[in-house]
Amino acid sequence: MPNAQAFYASIRDELQSIRDAGLYKNERVIATPQGARVRTSDGREVINLCANNYLGLSSHPRVIEAAHDALRTHGFGLSSVRFICGTQDLHKTLEARLSAFLGTEDTILYGSAFDANGGLFETLLGAEDAVISDALNHASIIDGIRLSRARRYRYQHNDMDDLRAQLEQARADGARYTLVFSDGVFSMDGTVARLDQMRALCDEYGALLGIDECHATGFMGQRGRGTHEARGVVGKIDIITGTLGKALGGASGGFTSARKEVVALLRQRSRPYLFSNTVAPAIVGASIAVLDILEGSTELRDRLERNTKFFRAGLDQLGFDVKAGDHPIIPIMVYDADKAQQLAQRLLELGVYVVGFFYPVVPRGQARIRVQMSALHDEATLQAALDAFGQAGRELGLI
Ligand SMILES: *Cc1c(COP(=O)(O)O)cnc(C)c1O
Repeated sequence: MPNAQAFYASIRDELQSIRDAGLYKNERVIATPQGARVRTSDGREVINLCANNYLGLSSHPRVIEAAHDALRTHGFGLSSVRFICGTQDLHKTLEARLSAFLGTEDTILYGSAFDANGGLFETLLGAEDAVISDALNHASIIDGIRLSRARRYRYQHNDMDDLRAQLEQARADGARYTLVFSDGVFSMDGTVARLDQMRALCDEYGALLGIDECHATGFMGQRGRGTHEARGVVGKIDIITGTLGKALGGASGGFTSARKEVVALLRQRSRPYLFSNTVAPAIVGASIAVLDILEGSTELRDRLERNTKFFRAGLDQLGFDVKAGDHPIIPIMVYDADKAQQLAQRLLELGVYVVGFFYPVVPRGQARIRVQMSALHDEATLQAALDAFGQAGRELGLI
């Protein structure tokens, strides 16, 4: 018994040390659907600049209607994994539609992108193989790689010289197959992977190239296909993982898209696919409607692009330390975790909802506010947000 008590005491100590370090994350409660503005549980309406709702589809009437339709025609849940009795016509349709949208041969759905990455590497690579990973890759990629027995190599973020060095090292170590894997867009910095150069390097070394497109699918590239479209390498990426939980409606669900033999093997062996419930019909039906919208018009991604340009220019003009780029993720560097929290708090008082990011989500001393644009915002709303940033930034001595 004393051991169990000590266990709970040590958990409380750890929580206290997280609070003492200013790193405790509080969850804000929202009482409305996701939107350009949301109401918090204390009744205040605020401009929302922190959702992954890039295209504004999370509460789009057509998407909601499609979810209702699927709920009526296909039920609430399937109470099964895919291979027992959890595959409906809708699932097959969405997989085919995603493949067409991404320019791949086949696609397999997962309960989340975290699961897609978690079930990828272990299934495809063995101890004789190598996986080479960008230093800033998402936690789900890191965990997925950990689950595999492949030898691990890491290159400096977006550094092509170091990627070459690691490819060289993997070859020297006698790797059978080598897979280079990267976020298409990096969620904390908004940097875009150099997929054209990476493809050329991988070809030189006979390596496979995979990307996680969670912050890209639906809006990167002229038709919103993703980072591979933005970098001119559609059809040349071996493996694409992604989420339905961000730009594509924002509910939940993930996928892996690749050559058909790769997807076929994932269906046989990938553990999160085999041992976790199928994606709910309402989400699948709504996701098909999302692809209808995106294939019908580029209006939403075009508006997102305009909003991003407008807001980045406004922040530059105010004098904030902003990480350069053109992605709707806009990191405003504050460096100090406490100060980042203060800025977020002050902005909330001024009617703008943003979140401070600090260790362990970003490296120590790299605290920031991450602003995210949405196609839902209009210029007047964004200008109001910029005014609030100006006031809070001056008060805190950041500009
Ligand atoms: C959000 C995110 C994930 C996880 O997506 P879910 O579908 O919510 O599990 C994985 N990879 C990256 C790069 C992400 O940004």
